[in-house]
Amino acid sequence: MENNINRKKEILRILQERGEVTVKELSHIFNVSEMTIYRDVRELEKEGEIKRKHGSILLNTVENKEPVSLKSCPVCSKPITRSHPYKIIVENIKVVEACCEHCGLMLHQRYADKSVYALTFDFISEKPINALDAWYVVGSSAIPCCSPSVIPFTNKEDAEKFAKGFGGKVLNFIDAYNEIINRMNINIKSCCSTESQPTTFKLSDIKKLK
Ligand SMILES: [Zn+2]
Ligand SMILES: [Zn+2]
Repeated sequence: MENNINRKKEILRILQERGEVTVKELSHIFNVSEMTIYRDVRELEKEGEIKRKHGSILLNTVENKEPVSLKSCPVCSKPITRSHPYKIIVENIKVVEACCEHCGLMLHQRYADKSVYALTFDFISEKPINALDAWYVVGSSAIPCCSPSVIPFTNKEDAEKFAKGFGGKVLNFIDAYNEIINRMNINIKSCCSTESQPTTFKLSDIKKLK
């Protein structure tokens, strides 16, 4: 234990000197296994002293902090704070991000005539899913961002289970899209502004990128 505390102090000292270092290098320096170093590193990380980046260890200083994203949602102008925002990939080149699925669906209006692919993340597993194939719970009592909320799931069963607990309708992409567009037209007082000419489209109108 004593050794471990000394080693941790020494690791911090090395970092102050060098800026960054790898687990492998540290295991050579201290002549202990990489597993032992990992344990120290994990503790230091928990204590907020260091951070890991691309296999290296860095001091957790202000300069080493990730730049804060200043991007804002193109639909509602809220800052995009989620680590996995809703993404629309237009014509395979342009990537546009929305604060949540609610705004993501609204944003599809602007690209209704373009070939798009969209990416979202399962609400429970946080695994990436093709947004056009996902299932959505629309208008539940869970409102993580914009209202009415749209919460994505990989499986219809998971969406149904969620809706049992929190209410809302279980819809596929197109139905969720139309539901949001229609609701936003009726309720102009909601957080997002609608486009002047709302377009509703059918599943067959969506051009999926292969
Ligand atoms: Zn938004
Ligand atoms: Zn939102």
